[in-house]
Amino acid sequence: MRIQIFYSKSCERYVKGVCSALGEVYGLRNYKNDVLEVISPSYSAERKQYDASSLLEYMSRVKQADIALWLVDKDIYARNTSYVFGYAAENYGAVLSTYRLRSEDLIQKEALHEVGHILGLAHCGNRCFMRFSNCLEDVRMKPMRLCDSCKKASGA
Ligand SMILES: [Zn+2]
Ligand SMILES: [Zn+2]
Repeated sequence: MRIQIFYSKSCERYVKGVCSALGEVYGLRNYKNDVLEVISPSYSAERKQYDASSLLEYMSRVKQADIALWLVDKDIYARNTSYVFGYAAENYGAVLSTYRLRSEDLIQKEALHEVGHILGLAHCGNRCFMRFSNCLEDVRMKPMRLCDSCKKASGA
C-alpha cells in the first residue's frame, strides 16, 4: 500500500524520517509528498486551535493515494479534548500536529501511532507505540516499537 504525505512548509524537515519509519515498520511505500497548509475554516478563534476532524475532511479534496498523513505545525483538537497530538480515520488518513511534540523522535513515534489507526489498530495496553498518550510524557515513555499482537493485527 502507498501513503501520501502532506505537510506544512515548516514541517518539511520531518518528512523524510517519517517516510522511512513508515516503510520500516509497516512496509508502506511513499506515494508522493506535497506542501499543504492548514485552512482557516478549520480554525476555532475561541480555542485558538484547529479542528482535527475538519482538517481531515478537507484532506479528502486533495488526497490522491489510498491513505494519507498530514503533518501540521498548528495545535489541533478533537471533540471533548483540550488538544490531541493526532487524529485518524481508518482506511483513510490522519492529521498529526508537531506543535507539542517538537522532536523528530516523538514526531516519528506519533506518526507510527496514527498510521496504526489508519491500518485498523486500536489502542493497546502493552509496551507498544499504540498505547494511548494523554500527555507528552506518555509519548516519551512508550517505546518506538509495535508489540507482537499489534504487529500481527497490522499485518506488518
Ligand atoms: Zn491513538
Ligand atoms: Zn500493541
